[in-house]
Amino acid sequence: RTVYVNGDYLPEEEAKVSIFDRGFLMADGVYEVTSVLGGKLIDFAGHARRLARSLNELDMKAPLTEDELLEIHRELVARNELVDGMIYLQVTRGAADRDFAFPVDAEPTVVLFTQSKPGLADNPVAKTGIKVISIPDIRWGRRDIKTVQLLYPSMGKMMAKKAGADDAWLVEDGKVTEGTSNNAYIVKGGKIITRQLGNEILHGITRAAVLRCAREAQMEVEERAFTIEEAQAADEAFITSASAFVMPVVEIDGATLGDGKPGRVAARLREIYLDEMRKAAV
Ligand code: PLP
Repeated sequence: RTVYVNGDYLPEEEAKVSIFDRGFLMADGVYEVTSVLGGKLIDFAGHARRLARSLNELDMKAPLTEDELLEIHRELVARNELVDGMIYLQVTRGAADRDFAFPVDAEPTVVLFTQSKPGLADNPVAKTGIKVISIPDIRWGRRDIKTVQLLYPSMGKMMAKKAGADDAWLVEDGKVTEGTSNNAYIVKGGKIITRQLGNEILHGITRAAVLRCAREAQMEVEERAFTIEEAQAADEAFITSASAFVMPVVEIDGATLGDGKPGRVAARLREIYLDEMRKAAV
């Protein structure tokens, strides 16, 4: 695989980052994951915009312009002959003597790599749905910044696996915030309900696109928090993320939703979303 590190395209074995990098020592960095379908980038502009926002919130200057980033993404797709998969992009504050205070002169470290996932959009799981468990949301209070600080979401995923489920929904003050690596939704009486934006959740790029698709298709959307009990009593549930697109949820904490099959709204949204995004892919 060819990867990108600070201006260079290299075979992955030759790519190196300092052990003093603050991403490594302090999780002082941000990332984006952009899907690739048919060799084209899905919603690149959305990811570029959120990256700029994450960097700004952490007082990091943008190391590259949106155009330069697009060029690197495309170059990696070409060099790796990537058809379906994703591109991971990470920007950290760079290498400096270890100190809690931000270094003044560190150069950001920029790393990108591809991951091939043949048939990504035809994931058979979309036909059967996933099971989720609920766990307390004990992450920090700025989940709107997409930092590489992913230990608790990673633990949550393991808790889910141990419990025989696929993923975990995080609960704070009695309400679902989001999934370990996705936004959470329920459907009741045809209405799509998902938590409102705030510091408590990541502002999903897929969330924004899916809600836009839903509204364009005259589906009713309500942005508010919901409880696990309300979700268990819902007609359907689903999650969204750049790599899962729209994925139905059929079981929450052992309670089966409806007839245990993926719901119609989720299936329809998945189709509309993929259609629209493929058309607009760059
Ligand atoms: N919420 C969290 C915590 C995430 O990590 C992610 C994606 O990685 C999402 C939501 C979904 O965001 P997006 O649709 O931009 O992939």
